[in-house]
Amino acid sequence: MPDTGIEGERILHGIAVSPGVCRGKILVLTDNRIDAVPRRTLSDEEVPAQIVRLEQAVTETRRQLHEVQKKVNAGMGAKDASIFDAHLLVLEDPTLLDEVARFVDTEKVNIEFAFAQVAEKYAKTLEAIDDEYLRERAADMRDVTERLLQNLLGTYQELDLKHLKENYIIVAHDLSPSRTAMLDKKNVLGFATDVGGKTSHTAIMARSLRIPAVVALGNASTELKDGQYALLDGYHGQIVINPTDQTLFEYGQLVRRHVSLDEKLRDTLDKPAVTLDGVRLTLSANIEQAEDVESVKASGAEGVGLFRTEYLFLNCETLPTEEEQFQAYRAVANALRPAPVIVRTLDLGGDKFMAHRNVSKEMNPFLGYRAIRLCLQEKDIFRAQLRAILRASAEGNIKLMYPMISCLDELMQANALLESCRAELRQEGVPFDGKMDVGAMIEIPSAAITADALARRVQFFSIGTNDLIQYTLAVDRLNEKIAHLYEPTNPSVLRLIKMTADAAHAAGIWVGLCGEMAGDPLMIPLLLGLGVDELSIAPQAVPQIKYLIRRVKMSEAKDIAAAALRSESSQEILDHSQRLVRSVAPSLFEQ
Ligand code: PEP
Ligand code: MG
Repeated sequence: MPDTGIEGERILHGIAVSPGVCRGKILVLTDNRIDAVPRRTLSDEEVPAQIVRLEQAVTETRRQLHEVQKKVNAGMGAKDASIFDAHLLVLEDPTLLDEVARFVDTEKVNIEFAFAQVAEKYAKTLEAIDDEYLRERAADMRDVTERLLQNLLGTYQELDLKHLKENYIIVAHDLSPSRTAMLDKKNVLGFATDVGGKTSHTAIMARSLRIPAVVALGNASTELKDGQYALLDGYHGQIVINPTDQTLFEYGQLVRRHVSLDEKLRDTLDKPAVTLDGVRLTLSANIEQAEDVESVKASGAEGVGLFRTEYLFLNCETLPTEEEQFQAYRAVANALRPAPVIVRTLDLGGDKFMAHRNVSKEMNPFLGYRAIRLCLQEKDIFRAQLRAILRASAEGNIKLMYPMISCLDELMQANALLESCRAELRQEGVPFDGKMDVGAMIEIPSAAITADALARRVQFFSIGTNDLIQYTLAVDRLNEKIAHLYEPTNPSVLRLIKMTADAAHAAGIWVGLCGEMAGDPLMIPLLLGLGVDELSIAPQAVPQIKYLIRRVKMSEAKDIAAAALRSESSQEILDHSQRLVRSVAPSLFEQ
């Protein structure tokens, strides 16, 4: 074949973090990382001046960050601008700055060198922690320390990303949040970075800007050149360099399918979750914080089926007070009224710990001091939360739910504490809803097996399959080595769901399901057929699950569930369900 001088098509694979497809020229942002900071030995007299320079650089960096924050606030809103609060906190951290000052003092070195050493040590410590969220915070740390170092060296330059002359796909080693924020959205087609993960702030920003993005592409920023033509696929996580006509044609079709599916899904927004043969389900959303109510409203969900309140506790130095909790719960209740909001009491422990609370390490934290077990022993914490939830119930349609109930006794103890909080509030003349529904999560096999007894003491159940699956199959939900054994369609799991639903209905109460299983289209006919009345899922998943519910018949769902209960094979159950879902909603699979 003659050499045309044009390189052939090449694909780099990464992780998709923001959906969409774009194509255009590449602009590689060179890394403004400072690789080597020269070490200079100082005389004793020179040391004090170094500390003054550090203070000046901190002030200047703070000023620049406030500036960026202001711009982001104006352009993208307060939520994205709050990312820079984390950056500003790094600058306030006395441990970091004191350590730099000590380093200069003892080693008699220039401040740039001392700062670079100490900051790198901090970032490396964060990176080494086995927690994706904290690892991503190392990038924040690097972002701000890099800026400070540039200020110390006098090499700081604001990249003129606001005045790009053309539209580009931006490629970089790692796009720091402050650089991302400076980009003018109308000139940016997409983002591609060598490193990063789904929870990195750049990924979060790309999603909120609705710009397609792919991260973890390896060496993209060194392999790719300015001006190369590429197609970035934010659905599957790849970047195609010099795409052929055939590739462009196939992507054109993919985009058209997405647009038409989005239109179909949008069509169901205000419609009820009702099966083709007229059975009405409730479709709710799971939230982690009060601010999530906006996405609940936009999703078409009918309220909140699970408010994971522990997130109010995780990122703070002290326990949130009763008043702070009350404000958070009432904000959600008021925003969604008259739709219901199920507030789950604290589920700390397992994999969720408060950073500043010393708890002894356990061999099996998921089998240990977690959720209701912790609350029943630390009654002050529990009572403050129960009172806050009760108080918020005066303002909206709040329901309360206990996590990790393993036996009747725990439920009775929790209910007794709730009753005493009611009595206290009554005496204090504080209003609350005397008829507030109380429910139990069924997420431990012992609870499912004794669901008949539990059902007589609550007004609803919500099955937490994330835990029910791990406890039934003895498969740690976080352990990737045994992830293949974590089977939602395992017959034992389905039989426990059926037992729970039957016990609920026999006692005249409803049963929901709020684990990730409910957000998987392939599971929907099975869950409906097993008798689940409510599904609670991530807001983003609501449109497609509602679309699917409106396309299945309850009679088909019952048949599939009955066959599953007779089956001995997880795979057979999954295949059967998949066949049905693909036949009634093929557009969900045409991506
Ligand atoms: C569950 O276990 O399914 C559940 C919804 O609770 P969490 O994921 O918070 O443990
Ligand atoms: Mg759980």
